[in-house]
Amino acid sequence: SLSDKLKRTLKNLRGEGVLRPEHVDAALREIRLALLEADVNYKVAKDFIARVREKALGQEVWQELKPAEQVVKIVYDELVELLGGTSSRLVFTRQAPNVVMVVGLQGSGKTTSTGKIALWLAKNEERKPLLVSTDVYRPAAREQLKVIAKATGQAIFDLPESNDPVLLAREAVRHARDYGYDTLLIDTAGRLHIDDQLMEELVQIKTETRPVEILFVADAMTGQDAVRSAEEFHRRVGITGVILTKMDGDARGGAALSIKQVTGQPVKFVGVGEKYDALEPFYPDRIAQRILGMGDVLSLIEEVQAKVDRAEAEAQLKKIQQNEFTLDDFRQQLRQVKRLGSISKIMKLLPDQLLGSIGLPNLTEEQSAAIERELKRTEAIIDSMTPEERADHRILNASRRRRIARGSGTTVAEVNQLIKQYVEMRQMMRELSRAGFFGGGLRGRLMRRMMGVT
Ligand code: GDP
Ligand code: MG
Repeated sequence: SLSDKLKRTLKNLRGEGVLRPEHVDAALREIRLALLEADVNYKVAKDFIARVREKALGQEVWQELKPAEQVVKIVYDELVELLGGTSSRLVFTRQAPNVVMVVGLQGSGKTTSTGKIALWLAKNEERKPLLVSTDVYRPAAREQLKVIAKATGQAIFDLPESNDPVLLAREAVRHARDYGYDTLLIDTAGRLHIDDQLMEELVQIKTETRPVEILFVADAMTGQDAVRSAEEFHRRVGITGVILTKMDGDARGGAALSIKQVTGQPVKFVGVGEKYDALEPFYPDRIAQRILGMGDVLSLIEEVQAKVDRAEAEAQLKKIQQNEFTLDDFRQQLRQVKRLGSISKIMKLLPDQLLGSIGLPNLTEEQSAAIERELKRTEAIIDSMTPEERADHRILNASRRRRIARGSGTTVAEVNQLIKQYVEMRQMMRELSRAGFFGGGLRGRLMRRMMGVT
């Protein structure tokens, strides 16, 4: 975890008005140690720190945050970004079958992970996977995959009489195509160390089966070794993603950052146990927290995030309030009208002179009842919008409008009409306001309030 020294450094930073280079550097020295402790490659850590330093020093001090919090936030955000930002899924095409090759050193968890992925795809992505083992060197290897296939209820292909990995892969593709399996998962042989023969064999299988994904399996416990072999596999075979196994142990996961940096390929899955369902999509934010060895620092960052979110939300709101009459305001206005009572009652309260000046005719009971029905419908429509839609009507595309119509029990035509009315009203408000129509004084203030113009 982050050392006590860092905590002290961060504490000392509290109360400082600005981010000063010497303080940023003091904090970053400690974060660099935390990265190395988590098994992040030396050079990767060094580059990372340099980037964060540049960012931290170039940045304005946020009013909402203490300088130390800001440094931690920058480090955390940068780490999440470097780990790939959001989680990356397996990429499939229309090709049938889609081939996924699983490669890596012996003992890294290839066979187990191949089985786990088949189960995961069947359960979560409605795919129909077929397994095949091309590990012909150890008799137990093909048997192991069969056991996993049986235990997870997944289909497996084999030619027991063949000891040719390339032939096995080719025939498995044919079998998958003939029997309607859309995904073929190829478990390959590993070695204790990288050797030319293995690489050559993997390249041949790749050429033969044209995989959409080549996943490199890295044992998180082996740290730096995993990084070096990932680099070598990528250079010689070309990988498209990484599975980081044995993250249920106490590995901090620094290898995830290093491998991503060194190969440019994202971690796609994390193995978290020996059971066949112990596989999770890779979430960069979780690993970032683990690499930083958070604990109490985690709660600090969450606090920071909440502050930033709140500050952003407030700024957004202020902007909208200053410049825009939003659908939220529109709804608010409708609610005020409702609270005041029926339209006809309101009309009776208003002096004739005033009604005349804003161009409203005296309404019959029937007319005002019709208006009230429309108000109700209007409010139902606005209630079916998301807060974002209410804040900015321009995002209301056709599919959103259809959803809103469904949600409010109205038609798309009615939703369209409301938006059109709102846009016209907004325009009118602006013009009236600009022309000084509402005037000053008490009457002006009352009118503005009634019309929802502030
Ligand atoms: P291969 O030689 O690369 O095919 O590796 P195996 O799939 O045979 O796995 C080697 C060992 O690691 C086995 O004992 C697995 O049960 C174990 N293993 C694989 N993945 C995980 C994991 O995510 N967590 C734990 N704890 N063990 C794992
Ligand atoms: Mg194996």
